[in-house]
Amino acid sequence: MSNQTLSLTLDPVVPDFLIDQVQSKMAYLDESVQRAVVCPDGSCMTLYLVQELDLAAQKTLEEKIHRVLTAMVSGALKPRIKILEDKLDRKLPFNKDPMDTLLETGGVYKEGKGMYVLGPLVASLVEYFNRECVDLAGSFEARPYRFPVLISPELLERVDYFRSFPHSLNFVRHLREDLDKIETFAEHAHCENGCLVAPEETQSDIEAMLSPAVCFHLYQALSGTTLDEGVKATAVGHCFRYESSNLTSLTRLWDFTMYEVIFVGEKDFVLDNREEGRKRAQKMYERWGLAYRVESANDPFFVGEFKKQAAFQSAFQLKYEVRAALPFLNDTLAVASYNYHQDFFGRKMEITAPDGKPAHTGCVAFGLERLAFAFLAQYGFERKTWPADVRRALKGI
Ligand code: 5GP
Ligand code: ZN
Repeated sequence: MSNQTLSLTLDPVVPDFLIDQVQSKMAYLDESVQRAVVCPDGSCMTLYLVQELDLAAQKTLEEKIHRVLTAMVSGALKPRIKILEDKLDRKLPFNKDPMDTLLETGGVYKEGKGMYVLGPLVASLVEYFNRECVDLAGSFEARPYRFPVLISPELLERVDYFRSFPHSLNFVRHLREDLDKIETFAEHAHCENGCLVAPEETQSDIEAMLSPAVCFHLYQALSGTTLDEGVKATAVGHCFRYESSNLTSLTRLWDFTMYEVIFVGEKDFVLDNREEGRKRAQKMYERWGLAYRVESANDPFFVGEFKKQAAFQSAFQLKYEVRAALPFLNDTLAVASYNYHQDFFGRKMEITAPDGKPAHTGCVAFGLERLAFAFLAQYGFERKTWPADVRRALKGI
């Protein structure tokens, strides 16, 4: 670790509605940067560096920052945030960072960057939220699916993922089917600074990746078909998104669990069900005593695609996030999202709706570890202050 920092004036200035999103992109700026902090008024930034930079390297960094700012900030319009539910003023008994207690007491164990073992308390909360989501899916008579953790690069290519979210991709390789190469690997493979070091030529091409989302697999399974009626499906799955230095605590995991209820069909079928999903989920949040707000949002697109895609999602109200209060930060965290993709996947995957047009799709998605984290951030560890339903569900743990 080095104490080297570099302070820069930003031009254009980052408007307040973009500060979080620009800052999270800075994690991908350059390997010489450990952390970047945009100042609260958006006019400057401090970079924490791995080592001191010479003038040329500094210039390269400044040029990259300029590229990010031009792509994300110049000419960006402030989105009109639409709030559908506001329960942020709920009285809460706790206002500390639960991560401190969890790490101290073995409630979670950090295995690596963005990788945590969840102990019985957090695991039971995740199970509880999972069961609640199963009940929600059941109320729609959604049909259950199980999807692989792996995903084919071709599927991700087909849905434009390489262009939209290249920074969060994860690759899977195996050894080449060649005795010499396997023996070479066995002889030389070792770890340095937490990374595997092995001769490159022993490893295969990339024919699988780690899945970044759940519902893509359903669209793949339905590709090339014409639906007789709207499809309601449900699945829980591991999702992988590389988040670089943003991977701190349970709020951002490299590998997290997403529970989804997915709708495929005609436009009204998808929009009505997404809306019905939002309304039914309200009852769950009541039971959980959750302080939250539901507001319009956009996905964290890569810099080049950011402005256009974010504005598009915002203009058509394609995404709403359930943002739970984190009292210790005086901030909120997205714990779930209600998504409508129009006929994007229907066209890309050639799924035809009963009306003969490309199918529309949408999903209601819950981040289970984030729900557990937000619950502990709001209610802490003193069970008698917990909502009765959660207390009952975790009795004996
Ligand atoms: P989305 O598809 O809207 O990006 O993600 C759906 C939900 O998955 C989010 O609302 C959030 O709860 C969860 N999620 C997304 N990214 C992460 C992450 O990096 N870490 C964790 N723990 N959960 C995430
Ligand atoms: Zn989805």
